[in-house]
Amino acid sequence: MLRTLIRSLFPGLMHRIENESRGWMMQCRKCGHETSVWDYGGMRYGGLGPVYRLGRCRECHRVSMLRVYKRDDFASR
Ligand SMILES: [Zn+2]
Repeated sequence: MLRTLIRSLFPGLMHRIENESRGWMMQCRKCGHETSVWDYGGMRYGGLGPVYRLGRCRECHRVSMLRVYKRDDFASR
């Protein structure tokens, strides 16, 4: 898995990516369920504005465009 590879090669970088990914949320447009990009199993680093990506919601299990956005209360480090 990509995360494991990065963590073994660049432990410092992985820590930064994890922090960054936890600051990004994915929201299902059908049921409103939110999860962090990190918890979803993704990684996001150095992103800009909100984006949409196709994914399956873990709550309602429907495939929809998940809104990916940065948490307001999350200070980028
Ligand atoms: Zn949903």
